[in-house]
Amino acid sequence: MAVVAPIEPAPSGRRRLRLSHPATLEWIGEVELHTASDVSRAVERARKAQPQWAELGFEQRGRFLQRAVQQLVERQDEFADVIVRDTGKPRMDVLATEILGSCDAMTYYAKRAARVLATRTVPLHLLKTKRLKVLYRPMGVVGIITPWNFPFLLSLNPTVQALMAGNTVVLKPSEVTPFSGQLVGELFKSAGLPEGVLQLLIGDGETGDALVNSAVDKICFTGSVRTGRKIAETCGRLLKPCTLELGGKDPMIVCADADLERAANGAVYGAFANSGQICISTERVYVVESVADAFIEKVVQKTSALRQGASGEFEIGSMIWPPQLDVIEEQMRDAVDRGAVVRTGGRRNPDCKGYFYEPTVLTDVLQGMAIMRDETFGPILPIMRVRDEQEALSLANDSAYGLNASIWTKSKRKGFELAKKIEAGSVVINDCLISYGATELPFGGVKDSGIGRVNGEVGLRSYCHTQSVVIDRFGGRSEAMWFPYSLRKQQLIQRMMRLLWGTSLGRWLS
Ligand code: NAD
Repeated sequence: MAVVAPIEPAPSGRRRLRLSHPATLEWIGEVELHTASDVSRAVERARKAQPQWAELGFEQRGRFLQRAVQQLVERQDEFADVIVRDTGKPRMDVLATEILGSCDAMTYYAKRAARVLATRTVPLHLLKTKRLKVLYRPMGVVGIITPWNFPFLLSLNPTVQALMAGNTVVLKPSEVTPFSGQLVGELFKSAGLPEGVLQLLIGDGETGDALVNSAVDKICFTGSVRTGRKIAETCGRLLKPCTLELGGKDPMIVCADADLERAANGAVYGAFANSGQICISTERVYVVESVADAFIEKVVQKTSALRQGASGEFEIGSMIWPPQLDVIEEQMRDAVDRGAVVRTGGRRNPDCKGYFYEPTVLTDVLQGMAIMRDETFGPILPIMRVRDEQEALSLANDSAYGLNASIWTKSKRKGFELAKKIEAGSVVINDCLISYGATELPFGGVKDSGIGRVNGEVGLRSYCHTQSVVIDRFGGRSEAMWFPYSLRKQQLIQRMMRLLWGTSLGRWLS
Protein backbone atom coordinates (compact mmCIF):
# COMPACT_ATOMS: atom_id res chain seq x y z
CA MET A 1 0.00 0.00 0.00
CA ALA A 2 0.82 1.24 1.40
CA VAL A 3 -2.09 3.32 2.28
CA VAL A 4 -5.03 0.93 2.17
CA ALA A 5 -8.58 2.20 2.40
CA PRO A 6 -11.76 0.18 1.98
CA ILE A 7 -14.10 1.54 -0.70
CA GLU A 8 -17.60 0.54 -1.82
CA PRO A 9 -17.90 -3.12 -2.90
CA ALA A 10 -17.55 -4.11 -6.56
CA PRO A 11 -20.67 -4.99 -8.63
CA SER A 12 -19.73 -8.65 -7.96
CA GLY A 13 -20.27 -7.97 -4.25
CA ARG A 14 -16.60 -8.48 -3.46
CA ARG A 15 -15.01 -6.06 -1.02
CA ARG A 16 -12.54 -3.57 -2.52
CA LEU A 17 -9.48 -1.64 -1.35
CA ARG A 18 -7.98 1.55 -2.69
CA LEU A 19 -4.20 1.84 -2.49
CA SER A 20 -1.67 4.63 -2.63
CA HIS A 21 2.11 4.97 -2.73
CA PRO A 22 3.42 5.23 0.86
CA ALA A 23 6.26 7.59 -0.10
CA THR A 24 4.46 10.01 -2.43
CA LEU A 25 0.84 9.39 -1.36
CA GLU A 26 -0.17 9.16 -5.04
CA TRP A 27 -3.09 6.89 -5.79
CA ILE A 28 -1.84 3.62 -7.36
CA GLY A 29 -4.94 1.50 -7.87
CA GLU A 30 -7.76 -0.59 -6.49
CA VAL A 31 -8.15 -4.30 -5.85
CA GLU A 32 -11.14 -6.61 -5.44
CA LEU A 33 -10.78 -9.06 -2.58
CA HIS A 34 -11.36 -12.75 -3.18
CA THR A 35 -14.09 -14.41 -1.15
CA ALA A 36 -14.23 -17.78 0.60
CA SER A 37 -15.96 -19.27 -2.52
CA ASP A 38 -13.16 -17.92 -4.72
CA VAL A 39 -10.71 -19.66 -2.39
CA SER A 40 -12.54 -23.02 -2.59
CA ARG A 41 -12.68 -22.85 -6.39
CA ALA A 42 -8.95 -22.03 -6.61
CA VAL A 43 -8.08 -24.95 -4.34
CA GLU A 44 -10.25 -27.29 -6.44
CA ARG A 45 -8.50 -26.18 -9.64
CA ALA A 46 -5.13 -26.64 -7.94
CA ARG A 47 -6.14 -30.13 -6.81
CA LYS A 48 -7.05 -31.11 -10.40
CA ALA A 49 -3.80 -29.72 -11.82
CA GLN A 50 -1.52 -31.34 -9.23
CA PRO A 51 -1.12 -34.97 -10.45
CA GLN A 52 -0.06 -33.88 -13.93
CA TRP A 53 2.31 -31.28 -12.54
CA ALA A 54 3.93 -33.87 -10.24
CA GLU A 55 4.09 -36.29 -13.17
CA LEU A 56 6.25 -33.85 -15.16
CA GLY A 57 9.29 -34.58 -13.02
CA PHE A 58 12.04 -32.29 -11.73
CA GLU A 59 13.71 -31.48 -15.01
CA GLN A 60 10.58 -30.23 -16.73
CA ARG A 61 9.32 -28.39 -13.69
CA GLY A 62 12.74 -26.78 -13.40
CA ARG A 63 12.48 -25.54 -16.97
CA PHE A 64 9.52 -23.34 -16.05
CA LEU A 65 11.58 -21.81 -13.27
CA GLN A 66 14.54 -21.22 -15.57
CA ARG A 67 12.21 -19.51 -18.04
CA ALA A 68 10.85 -17.38 -15.22
CA VAL A 69 14.42 -16.33 -14.35
CA GLN A 70 14.99 -15.22 -17.96
CA GLN A 71 11.74 -13.26 -17.90
CA LEU A 72 12.63 -11.61 -14.61
CA VAL A 73 16.09 -10.59 -15.76
CA GLU A 74 14.59 -9.09 -18.95
CA ARG A 75 11.72 -7.35 -17.16
CA GLN A 76 13.57 -6.32 -13.99
CA ASP A 77 12.91 -2.60 -14.44
CA GLU A 78 9.20 -3.08 -15.01
CA PHE A 79 8.95 -5.34 -11.93
CA ALA A 80 11.06 -2.97 -9.82
CA ASP A 81 8.75 -0.07 -10.73
CA VAL A 82 5.74 -1.93 -9.34
CA ILE A 83 7.50 -2.94 -6.12
CA VAL A 84 8.83 0.58 -5.52
CA ARG A 85 5.30 1.96 -5.99
CA ASP A 86 3.81 -0.58 -3.61
CA THR A 87 6.42 -0.16 -0.88
CA GLY A 88 8.30 3.16 -1.12
CA LYS A 89 11.62 1.26 -0.92
CA PRO A 90 14.81 2.52 -2.56
CA ARG A 91 15.18 0.97 -6.02
CA MET A 92 18.58 -0.42 -4.96
CA ASP A 93 16.88 -2.46 -2.17
CA VAL A 94 14.31 -3.79 -4.63
CA LEU A 95 16.94 -4.86 -7.17
CA ALA A 96 19.40 -6.29 -4.64
CA THR A 97 16.92 -8.25 -2.56
CA GLU A 98 13.56 -8.77 -4.24
CA ILE A 99 14.79 -9.29 -7.83
CA LEU A 100 18.31 -10.66 -7.41
CA GLY A 101 17.18 -12.87 -4.50
CA SER A 102 14.32 -14.26 -6.58
CA CYS A 103 16.59 -15.08 -9.54
CA ASP A 104 19.00 -16.87 -7.22
CA ALA A 105 16.25 -18.82 -5.43
CA MET A 106 14.62 -19.98 -8.68
CA THR A 107 17.95 -21.09 -10.12
CA TYR A 108 18.97 -22.90 -6.95
CA TYR A 109 15.73 -24.87 -6.57
CA ALA A 110 15.44 -25.60 -10.30
CA LYS A 111 18.90 -27.16 -10.23
CA ARG A 112 18.97 -28.81 -6.80
CA ALA A 113 15.49 -30.20 -6.23
CA ALA A 114 16.14 -33.44 -8.17
CA ARG A 115 19.12 -34.28 -5.97
CA VAL A 116 17.61 -33.15 -2.65
CA LEU A 117 14.31 -34.94 -3.23
CA ALA A 118 15.73 -38.07 -4.89
CA THR A 119 14.63 -41.37 -3.41
CA ARG A 120 17.28 -42.58 -0.94
CA THR A 121 18.17 -46.16 -0.16
CA VAL A 122 19.08 -46.46 3.51
CA PRO A 123 20.97 -49.51 4.83
CA LEU A 124 19.31 -50.91 7.96
CA HIS A 125 21.69 -51.55 10.83
CA LEU A 126 19.74 -54.40 12.43
CA LEU A 127 17.33 -55.74 9.85
CA LYS A 128 19.87 -56.86 7.28
CA THR A 129 17.30 -58.88 5.35
CA LYS A 130 15.34 -55.72 4.47
CA ARG A 131 16.02 -52.67 2.37
CA LEU A 132 14.61 -49.22 3.19
CA LYS A 133 13.76 -46.64 0.58
CA VAL A 134 12.88 -43.10 1.66
CA LEU A 135 10.72 -41.12 -0.76
CA TYR A 136 9.77 -37.45 -0.79
CA ARG A 137 6.22 -37.18 -2.08
CA PRO A 138 4.51 -33.88 -2.81
CA MET A 139 1.86 -32.98 -0.25
CA GLY A 140 -0.68 -31.89 -2.88
CA VAL A 141 -1.93 -28.30 -2.73
CA VAL A 142 0.05 -25.81 -0.65
CA GLY A 143 -1.49 -22.56 0.62
CA ILE A 144 1.05 -19.74 0.99
CA ILE A 145 0.29 -16.53 2.91
CA THR A 146 2.82 -13.71 2.87
CA PRO A 147 3.52 -10.24 4.38
CA TRP A 148 4.22 -6.81 2.92
CA ASN A 149 7.84 -6.16 3.80
CA PHE A 150 9.37 -8.11 0.88
CA PRO A 151 6.16 -8.61 -1.04
CA PHE A 152 7.73 -10.19 -4.13
CA LEU A 153 10.60 -12.31 -2.77
CA LEU A 154 8.71 -13.67 0.25
CA SER A 155 5.82 -14.69 -2.04
CA LEU A 156 7.98 -16.16 -4.76
CA ASN A 157 10.52 -18.04 -2.66
CA PRO A 158 8.19 -20.46 -0.82
CA THR A 159 6.13 -20.81 -4.01
CA VAL A 160 9.02 -22.10 -6.10
CA GLN A 161 10.09 -24.53 -3.38
CA ALA A 162 6.57 -25.95 -3.16
CA LEU A 163 6.29 -26.13 -6.97
CA MET A 164 9.64 -27.87 -7.45
CA ALA A 165 8.58 -30.45 -4.86
CA GLY A 166 5.62 -31.31 -7.16
CA ASN A 167 2.84 -29.40 -5.38
CA THR A 168 0.45 -26.90 -6.85
CA VAL A 169 0.14 -23.59 -5.03
CA VAL A 170 -2.56 -21.15 -4.00
CA LEU A 171 -0.77 -17.95 -2.99
CA LYS A 172 -2.30 -15.12 -0.97
CA PRO A 173 0.10 -12.19 -0.76
CA SER A 174 -0.48 -9.24 1.55
CA GLU A 175 -3.37 -6.89 0.80
CA VAL A 176 -1.00 -4.05 1.71
CA THR A 177 1.18 -4.69 -1.36
CA PRO A 178 -1.09 -6.67 -3.74
CA PHE A 179 0.46 -5.47 -6.99
CA SER A 180 3.89 -6.84 -6.05
CA GLY A 181 2.29 -10.14 -5.06
CA GLN A 182 0.44 -10.28 -8.38
CA LEU A 183 3.80 -10.07 -10.16
CA VAL A 184 4.57 -13.62 -9.02
CA GLY A 185 1.51 -14.89 -10.89
CA GLU A 186 2.34 -12.76 -13.90
CA LEU A 187 5.93 -13.99 -14.01
CA PHE A 188 4.93 -17.64 -14.08
CA LYS A 189 2.17 -17.00 -16.57
CA SER A 190 4.75 -15.50 -18.90
CA ALA A 191 6.98 -18.53 -18.25
CA GLY A 192 4.12 -20.72 -19.58
CA LEU A 193 3.19 -22.47 -16.32
CA PRO A 194 0.20 -24.79 -16.92
CA GLU A 195 -3.26 -23.59 -15.85
CA GLY A 196 -4.11 -24.20 -12.18
CA VAL A 197 -0.53 -24.89 -11.03
CA LEU A 198 -0.10 -21.48 -9.39
CA GLN A 199 -3.10 -19.36 -8.49
CA LEU A 200 -3.09 -16.01 -6.84
CA LEU A 201 -5.71 -14.74 -4.45
CA ILE A 202 -5.97 -11.10 -3.57
CA GLY A 203 -7.31 -10.52 -0.10
CA ASP A 204 -6.81 -9.63 3.52
CA GLY A 205 -7.13 -11.67 6.71
CA GLU A 206 -10.59 -12.88 5.74
CA THR A 207 -9.31 -14.41 2.48
CA GLY A 208 -6.25 -15.76 4.34
CA ASP A 209 -8.44 -17.38 6.97
CA ALA A 210 -10.58 -18.98 4.24
CA LEU A 211 -7.39 -20.40 2.69
CA VAL A 212 -6.25 -21.86 6.01
CA ASN A 213 -9.70 -23.44 6.49
CA SER A 214 -9.84 -24.73 2.90
CA ALA A 215 -8.86 -28.16 1.60
CA VAL A 216 -5.16 -27.23 1.11
CA ASP A 217 -2.71 -29.85 2.39
CA LYS A 218 -0.22 -27.46 3.98
CA ILE A 219 0.01 -23.82 5.01
CA CYS A 220 3.24 -21.90 4.73
CA PHE A 221 2.80 -18.60 6.57
CA THR A 222 5.14 -15.62 6.86
CA GLY A 223 3.94 -12.74 8.99
CA SER A 224 3.28 -11.56 12.52
CA VAL A 225 3.20 -13.63 15.70
CA ARG A 226 -0.41 -12.55 16.26
CA THR A 227 -1.63 -13.97 12.94
CA GLY A 228 0.74 -16.94 13.19
CA ARG A 229 -0.88 -17.99 16.47
CA LYS A 230 -4.37 -17.87 14.91
CA ILE A 231 -3.20 -19.94 11.95
CA ALA A 232 -1.48 -22.48 14.21
CA GLU A 233 -4.71 -22.86 16.19
CA THR A 234 -6.76 -23.52 13.06
CA CYS A 235 -4.14 -25.88 11.62
CA GLY A 236 -4.01 -27.70 14.96
CA ARG A 237 -7.76 -28.23 14.90
CA LEU A 238 -7.66 -29.41 11.27
CA LEU A 239 -4.43 -31.43 11.78
CA LYS A 240 -2.94 -29.56 8.85
CA PRO A 241 0.86 -29.16 8.67
CA CYS A 242 2.04 -25.57 8.79
CA THR A 243 5.29 -23.65 8.71
CA LEU A 244 5.28 -20.36 10.60
CA GLU A 245 7.91 -17.71 9.85
CA LEU A 246 7.17 -14.99 12.37
CA GLY A 247 8.65 -11.87 13.90
CA GLY A 248 11.92 -11.20 15.67
CA LYS A 249 13.77 -8.88 18.04
CA ASP A 250 17.25 -9.63 16.79
CA PRO A 251 20.13 -8.82 19.13
CA MET A 252 23.58 -7.66 18.01
CA ILE A 253 26.47 -8.36 20.39
CA VAL A 254 29.54 -6.15 19.99
CA CYS A 255 32.52 -7.72 21.77
CA ALA A 256 35.49 -5.77 23.14
CA ASP A 257 37.69 -7.07 20.31
CA ALA A 258 35.26 -6.20 17.47
CA ASP A 259 36.40 -4.35 14.36
CA LEU A 260 34.45 -1.25 15.39
CA GLU A 261 34.35 0.32 11.94
CA ARG A 262 32.81 -2.81 10.39
CA ALA A 263 30.52 -3.33 13.39
CA ALA A 264 29.22 0.26 13.19
CA ASN A 265 28.63 -0.01 9.43
CA GLY A 266 26.89 -3.36 10.02
CA ALA A 267 24.72 -1.94 12.81
CA VAL A 268 23.55 0.93 10.60
CA TYR A 269 22.82 -1.31 7.62
CA GLY A 270 21.27 -4.08 9.74
CA ALA A 271 18.96 -1.68 11.56
CA PHE A 272 17.94 0.73 8.83
CA ALA A 273 17.90 -1.19 5.53
CA ASN A 274 14.30 -1.37 4.27
CA SER A 275 13.51 1.17 7.03
CA GLY A 276 13.95 -1.60 9.59
CA GLN A 277 11.03 -3.55 8.14
CA ILE A 278 12.88 -6.85 7.96
CA CYS A 279 12.12 -9.79 10.21
CA ILE A 280 15.89 -10.13 10.79
CA SER A 281 16.62 -6.41 11.23
CA THR A 282 19.00 -5.58 14.04
CA GLU A 283 16.53 -4.45 16.72
CA ARG A 284 18.78 -4.08 19.80
CA VAL A 285 22.53 -3.77 20.39
CA TYR A 286 24.54 -4.90 23.42
CA VAL A 287 27.99 -3.35 23.32
CA VAL A 288 30.76 -4.11 25.81
CA GLU A 289 31.47 -1.08 28.02
CA SER A 290 35.17 -0.72 27.07
CA VAL A 291 34.32 0.03 23.40
CA ALA A 292 30.83 1.49 23.83
CA ASP A 293 31.71 5.20 23.46
CA ALA A 294 33.74 4.68 20.30
CA PHE A 295 31.08 2.38 18.80
CA ILE A 296 28.15 4.69 19.61
CA GLU A 297 29.96 7.71 18.20
CA LYS A 298 30.56 5.92 14.91
CA VAL A 299 26.97 4.63 14.69
CA VAL A 300 25.48 8.08 15.39
CA GLN A 301 27.74 9.76 12.84
CA LYS A 302 26.96 7.13 10.13
CA THR A 303 23.23 7.24 10.87
CA SER A 304 23.12 11.02 10.61
CA ALA A 305 24.68 10.75 7.14
CA LEU A 306 21.88 8.53 5.76
CA ARG A 307 19.65 10.07 3.10
CA GLN A 308 15.91 9.56 3.19
CA GLY A 309 13.59 10.16 0.25
CA ALA A 310 11.44 8.96 -2.60
CA SER A 311 13.53 9.77 -5.68
CA GLY A 312 17.15 10.20 -6.73
CA GLU A 313 19.91 8.67 -4.59
CA PHE A 314 18.94 7.75 -1.03
CA GLU A 315 19.35 4.88 1.39
CA ILE A 316 16.16 4.97 3.44
CA GLY A 317 12.65 4.89 1.99
CA SER A 318 9.26 5.26 3.60
CA MET A 319 7.42 2.95 5.93
CA ILE A 320 5.38 0.52 3.85
CA TRP A 321 2.35 0.28 6.11
CA PRO A 322 1.35 3.54 7.85
CA PRO A 323 -0.01 1.93 11.06
CA GLN A 324 3.55 0.71 11.72
CA LEU A 325 4.40 4.36 12.44
CA ASP A 326 2.03 4.27 15.42
CA VAL A 327 3.86 1.23 16.82
CA ILE A 328 7.19 3.05 16.44
CA GLU A 329 5.92 6.24 18.04
CA GLU A 330 4.37 4.39 20.97
CA GLN A 331 7.62 2.50 21.66
CA MET A 332 9.66 5.70 21.30
CA ARG A 333 7.38 7.57 23.70
CA ASP A 334 7.70 4.80 26.29
CA ALA A 335 11.51 4.70 25.91
CA VAL A 336 12.03 8.46 26.14
CA ASP A 337 9.61 8.80 29.09
CA ARG A 338 11.68 6.19 30.92
CA GLY A 339 15.01 7.88 30.30
CA ALA A 340 16.25 6.79 26.87
CA VAL A 341 18.31 9.41 25.03
CA VAL A 342 17.68 10.12 21.32
CA ARG A 343 21.14 10.52 19.73
CA THR A 344 19.84 11.18 16.23
CA GLY A 345 16.44 11.03 14.52
CA GLY A 346 13.48 10.41 16.78
CA ARG A 347 10.62 11.83 14.71
CA ARG A 348 8.68 11.57 11.45
CA ASN A 349 10.70 13.19 8.69
CA PRO A 350 9.17 16.67 8.21
CA ASP A 351 10.86 17.09 4.81
CA CYS A 352 9.16 14.07 3.23
CA LYS A 353 5.57 13.94 2.07
CA GLY A 354 4.75 10.29 2.76
CA TYR A 355 5.15 7.95 5.73
CA PHE A 356 8.79 8.46 6.73
CA TYR A 357 10.40 8.03 10.14
CA GLU A 358 13.96 9.25 10.56
CA PRO A 359 16.65 6.63 11.24
CA THR A 360 16.99 6.84 15.01
CA VAL A 361 19.70 5.87 17.49
CA LEU A 362 18.76 5.53 21.15
CA THR A 363 21.08 5.07 24.14
CA ASP A 364 20.47 4.75 27.90
CA VAL A 365 17.81 2.17 27.21
CA LEU A 366 16.69 -0.45 29.73
CA GLN A 367 15.99 -4.11 29.01
CA GLY A 368 12.44 -3.73 30.32
CA MET A 369 11.45 -1.04 27.79
CA ALA A 370 9.07 -2.00 24.99
CA ILE A 371 11.73 -0.86 22.50
CA MET A 372 14.01 -3.66 23.83
CA ARG A 373 11.32 -6.32 24.15
CA ASP A 374 8.69 -5.94 21.41
CA GLU A 375 9.27 -6.10 17.67
CA THR A 376 9.59 -2.52 16.37
CA PHE A 377 9.78 -3.21 12.61
CA GLY A 378 11.00 0.32 11.99
CA PRO A 379 14.22 2.36 11.71
CA ILE A 380 15.10 2.48 15.42
CA LEU A 381 18.39 1.24 16.89
CA PRO A 382 18.52 1.08 20.69
CA ILE A 383 22.04 0.54 22.08
CA MET A 384 22.75 -0.75 25.58
CA ARG A 385 26.14 -0.88 27.33
CA VAL A 386 27.01 -4.15 29.04
CA ARG A 387 29.78 -5.26 31.42
CA ASP A 388 31.02 -8.12 29.26
CA GLU A 389 30.04 -10.68 26.65
CA GLN A 390 28.38 -12.95 29.21
CA GLU A 391 25.97 -10.19 30.20
CA ALA A 392 25.32 -9.47 26.52
CA LEU A 393 24.53 -13.14 25.95
CA SER A 394 22.09 -13.40 28.81
CA LEU A 395 20.30 -10.17 27.78
CA ALA A 396 20.20 -11.35 24.14
CA ASN A 397 18.47 -14.55 25.29
CA ASP A 398 16.09 -12.65 27.57
CA SER A 399 13.46 -12.35 24.84
CA ALA A 400 10.25 -13.99 23.70
CA TYR A 401 11.72 -14.08 20.19
CA GLY A 402 14.51 -16.14 18.65
CA LEU A 403 14.82 -15.53 14.94
CA ASN A 404 18.33 -14.30 14.19
CA ALA A 405 21.29 -12.67 15.99
CA SER A 406 24.69 -11.23 15.15
CA ILE A 407 28.02 -11.32 16.99
CA TRP A 408 30.91 -9.00 16.21
CA THR A 409 34.42 -10.09 17.23
CA LYS A 410 37.84 -10.56 15.65
CA SER A 411 37.97 -14.06 17.13
CA LYS A 412 35.88 -16.32 14.92
CA ARG A 413 36.31 -19.16 17.43
CA LYS A 414 34.90 -17.03 20.27
CA GLY A 415 32.10 -15.86 17.95
CA PHE A 416 31.20 -19.46 17.18
CA GLU A 417 31.22 -20.45 20.88
CA LEU A 418 28.89 -17.52 21.69
CA ALA A 419 26.68 -18.35 18.67
CA LYS A 420 26.07 -21.86 20.03
CA LYS A 421 24.67 -20.34 23.22
CA ILE A 422 22.26 -17.91 21.52
CA GLU A 423 18.62 -18.94 21.41
CA ALA A 424 17.94 -18.13 17.75
CA GLY A 425 17.26 -20.03 14.53
CA SER A 426 20.31 -18.43 12.92
CA VAL A 427 23.35 -16.45 14.02
CA VAL A 428 25.68 -14.37 11.87
CA ILE A 429 29.26 -13.57 12.84
CA ASN A 430 30.63 -10.20 11.69
CA ASP A 431 27.76 -9.71 9.23
CA CYS A 432 24.05 -9.00 9.19
CA LEU A 433 20.82 -9.57 7.24
CA ILE A 434 22.20 -12.44 5.19
CA SER A 435 20.40 -15.34 6.84
CA TYR A 436 17.42 -15.20 4.49
CA GLY A 437 19.53 -14.37 1.42
CA ALA A 438 21.81 -17.41 1.82
CA THR A 439 19.62 -19.82 -0.12
CA GLU A 440 21.11 -23.00 1.38
CA LEU A 441 20.49 -21.81 4.95
CA PRO A 442 17.62 -23.56 6.77
CA PHE A 443 15.77 -20.45 7.94
CA GLY A 444 13.29 -20.11 10.79
CA GLY A 445 12.89 -19.20 14.42
CA VAL A 446 12.73 -20.61 17.90
CA LYS A 447 10.38 -19.48 20.70
CA ASP A 448 7.75 -16.99 19.41
CA SER A 449 9.63 -16.53 16.11
CA GLY A 450 8.03 -19.52 14.55
CA ILE A 451 7.77 -23.21 13.84
CA GLY A 452 9.63 -25.11 11.13
CA ARG A 453 12.28 -24.13 8.63
CA VAL A 454 12.14 -22.81 5.09
CA ASN A 455 14.80 -22.59 2.37
CA GLY A 456 17.62 -24.92 1.40
CA GLU A 457 17.30 -28.69 1.50
CA VAL A 458 15.20 -28.70 4.68
CA GLY A 459 12.86 -26.17 3.09
CA LEU A 460 12.34 -28.24 -0.05
CA ARG A 461 11.65 -31.35 2.02
CA SER A 462 9.17 -29.43 4.17
CA TYR A 463 6.81 -29.38 1.17
CA CYS A 464 6.87 -33.18 0.99
CA HIS A 465 5.59 -36.12 2.93
CA THR A 466 8.48 -38.40 3.74
CA GLN A 467 7.38 -41.90 2.84
CA SER A 468 9.28 -44.99 3.95
CA VAL A 469 9.10 -48.18 1.92
CA VAL A 470 10.64 -51.33 3.40
CA ILE A 471 11.39 -54.14 0.96
CA ASP A 472 12.11 -57.69 2.03
CA ARG A 473 15.27 -58.85 0.23
CA PHE A 474 15.26 -62.64 0.32
CA GLY A 475 11.67 -63.92 0.60
CA GLY A 476 11.10 -67.34 2.19
CA ARG A 477 7.97 -68.87 3.65
CA SER A 478 7.99 -67.00 6.93
CA GLU A 479 9.99 -64.74 9.27
CA ALA A 480 11.52 -65.70 12.60
CA MET A 481 9.27 -63.24 14.50
CA TRP A 482 6.00 -64.27 12.84
CA PHE A 483 3.54 -66.82 14.25
CA PRO A 484 3.62 -69.39 15.67
CA TYR A 485 5.37 -68.24 18.88
CA SER A 486 7.35 -70.80 20.87
CA LEU A 487 9.61 -71.03 23.90
CA ARG A 488 12.48 -71.81 21.55
CA LYS A 489 11.96 -68.58 19.60
CA GLN A 490 11.79 -66.64 22.88
CA GLN A 491 15.11 -68.11 24.01
CA LEU A 492 16.62 -67.32 20.62
CA ILE A 493 15.68 -63.65 20.93
CA GLN A 494 17.16 -63.48 24.42
CA ARG A 495 20.38 -65.12 23.25
CA MET A 496 20.60 -62.67 20.36
CA MET A 497 20.17 -59.66 22.67
CA ARG A 498 22.90 -61.00 25.00
CA LEU A 499 25.20 -61.50 22.04
CA LEU A 500 24.55 -58.09 20.46
CA TRP A 501 24.43 -55.84 23.49
CA GLY A 502 25.66 -57.93 26.42
CA THR A 503 29.22 -58.54 25.21
CA SER A 504 31.87 -56.02 24.23
CA LEU A 505 32.42 -57.78 20.88
CA GLY A 506 28.67 -57.65 20.19
CA ARG A 507 28.46 -53.98 21.15
CA TRP A 508 31.38 -53.23 18.86
CA LEU A 509 29.76 -55.16 15.99
CA SER A 510 26.33 -53.60 16.46
P1 NAD B 1 0.40 -10.04 9.25
O1 NAD B 1 0.45 -11.21 10.14
O2 NAD B 1 -0.46 -8.91 9.62
O3 NAD B 1 -0.07 -10.47 7.78
C1 NAD B 1 0.62 -11.46 7.05
C2 NAD B 1 -0.35 -12.11 6.07
O4 NAD B 1 -1.36 -12.80 6.78
C3 NAD B 1 -1.07 -11.12 5.16
O5 NAD B 1 -1.15 -11.67 3.87
C4 NAD B 1 -2.45 -11.02 5.79
O6 NAD B 1 -3.46 -10.67 4.89
C5 NAD B 1 -2.65 -12.44 6.29
N1 NAD B 1 -3.60 -12.60 7.39
C6 NAD B 1 -3.99 -11.69 8.30
N2 NAD B 1 -4.87 -12.25 9.17
C7 NAD B 1 -5.01 -13.54 8.79
C8 NAD B 1 -5.78 -14.63 9.30
N3 NAD B 1 -6.55 -14.52 10.38
N4 NAD B 1 -5.67 -15.82 8.68
C9 NAD B 1 -4.87 -15.97 7.61
N5 NAD B 1 -4.15 -14.97 7.07
C10 NAD B 1 -4.21 -13.77 7.67
O7 NAD B 1 1.92 -9.61 9.05
P2 NAD B 1 2.45 -8.33 8.25
O8 NAD B 1 2.16 -7.14 9.09
O9 NAD B 1 2.01 -8.41 6.85
O10 NAD B 1 4.04 -8.61 8.24
C11 NAD B 1 4.92 -8.14 9.21
C12 NAD B 1 5.30 -9.27 10.14
O11 NAD B 1 5.83 -10.35 9.38
C13 NAD B 1 6.40 -8.87 11.11
O12 NAD B 1 6.09 -9.37 12.38
C14 NAD B 1 7.63 -9.58 10.55
O13 NAD B 1 8.62 -9.86 11.51
C15 NAD B 1 7.03 -10.83 9.98
N6 NAD B 1 7.91 -11.41 8.98
C16 NAD B 1 8.53 -12.61 9.26
C17 NAD B 1 9.42 -13.15 8.33
C18 NAD B 1 10.13 -14.46 8.59
O14 NAD B 1 10.58 -15.07 7.64
N7 NAD B 1 10.24 -14.91 9.84
C19 NAD B 1 9.66 -12.50 7.13
C20 NAD B 1 9.01 -11.28 6.90
C21 NAD B 1 8.13 -10.75 7.82
